[in-house]
Amino acid sequence: MPASSLDQLVSLCKRRGFIFPGSDIYGGLANTWDYGPLGVELKNRLKRHWWDTFVRRRENMWGLDASILMNRKVWEASGHVTSFADPLVECKSCHQRFRGDHLLEEKIGAEAAAVLTIDQLQPMLIAEKIPCPACGKLQWVEAKKFNMMFKTHQGVIEEEGSLVYLRPETAQGIFVNFKNVLNTMRPRLPFGIAQIGKAFRNEITPGNFTFRTREFEQMEIEYFCEENGWEKAFTLWQDLIWQWYIDLGIAKERLRVREHSQDELSHYSRRTIDIEYKFPWGWGELFGLAYRTDFDLQQHQKFSGEELLFTDPDDPKKKFIPHVIEPSFGCDRTVLTLLLEAYTEDMVADATRTVLRLPQILAPIDVAVLPLSKKENLIAKAKELYKKIVQETNLTVDFDVTGSIGKRYRRQDEIGTPQCITVDFGTLGEDATQGGKDTVTMRDRDSLKQKRLPINQTIEALSFRA
Ligand code: ATP
Repeated sequence: MPASSLDQLVSLCKRRGFIFPGSDIYGGLANTWDYGPLGVELKNRLKRHWWDTFVRRRENMWGLDASILMNRKVWEASGHVTSFADPLVECKSCHQRFRGDHLLEEKIGAEAAAVLTIDQLQPMLIAEKIPCPACGKLQWVEAKKFNMMFKTHQGVIEEEGSLVYLRPETAQGIFVNFKNVLNTMRPRLPFGIAQIGKAFRNEITPGNFTFRTREFEQMEIEYFCEENGWEKAFTLWQDLIWQWYIDLGIAKERLRVREHSQDELSHYSRRTIDIEYKFPWGWGELFGLAYRTDFDLQQHQKFSGEELLFTDPDDPKKKFIPHVIEPSFGCDRTVLTLLLEAYTEDMVADATRTVLRLPQILAPIDVAVLPLSKKENLIAKAKELYKKIVQETNLTVDFDVTGSIGKRYRRQDEIGTPQCITVDFGTLGEDATQGGKDTVTMRDRDSLKQKRLPINQTIEALSFRA
């Protein structure tokens, strides 16, 4: 069973060094989170796995790392300056602000709420008798559109001309580099450009841990194709992504595909689906797949004056603006989902054990070497083995001597370490009841099975990351 409440997971993340509240020693900054030593390892592994799967090991895929700050005309061309807004409602009594559509979701459903026009929101809140979540009054001011782009200034003078935006999505960095990639990599259609990076949105109501924050990371692909190939490309990516989540161990029954209705589509999209996950508070978007037509490249061609045409290498007279399918993954939401899925409580010898059943490719630590006690010669023997594994493999190895062996197993279970090796007095040849000389115990996180094996066979007995 995955975690049934978010609190269980938030507490484990803090206690074990996965995710800490941001600016903690200053009392925090609302809805900011810092990845700790194990969290950053998990997140980096996820990003590496994503990059390997969708960029390095696929033909015709290219990577990119564009700047967060971009010429602000980019955002005029993309439509974000005028259209990247969420419906904001304010309580007349306490002046707290909320996302109008989210307030209505429980009563009328997410899909119906998403397609309400800005003028319909306030009357609907009143008609459905949805009170202010902060003060409980039913006094809503008319809804208005709130642009979610963060603004800042570039250079030493804060004036209108120096205004720049923090990018609200990584996608536009790809579109503005489309020509550079064409000229340097000479790809054939269909081909993709991928990028992992930070995005910033001044969300009206962030919350649910790292699910909705104002600073987050995306893993995005723009997959360029001919117009008549968009449906094939859409299906290809939908299947690839679904399978990717399943292969990471996410249970099918907690995943679903939600098709956006025509009214709900973003200004650039002709078809969008979300892959949603059943979070402890309900279904929420994990991933989006959109057919963005040739909208973005057309707009950038118009606003920049640069020609953004693709020339067919087999027929140089055939020049056109390709269409694009966009798979867009939330990196932080995927980490959160993996943690929720992995969190398990089971009973071991009449005591509750918390274990993170993370897939090994993502577990922050591959193997822990544990000397049974703090005796010097035991530590020296265990350290020898630790060093050997570090030198001869690419595994991340933990060496832990603090606390009883039981406590150390508990800690390794809680951080998801798939395998532990214990060096004891049997290993030293001092206590045959613990095992033969030069043998160690290997313990499996999930089955809890222990096996005794010669110390010089440990490396071949370890399971490796794919
Ligand atoms: P939502 O409907 O939840 O606001 P969205 O439709 O605006 O999401 P997209 O623009 O499709 O999201 O962004 C692609 C992905 O980026 C999402 O599927 C999600 O995983 C992630 N994402 C978007 N906004 C946030 C956020 N505020 N915090 C964390 N991740 C986010």
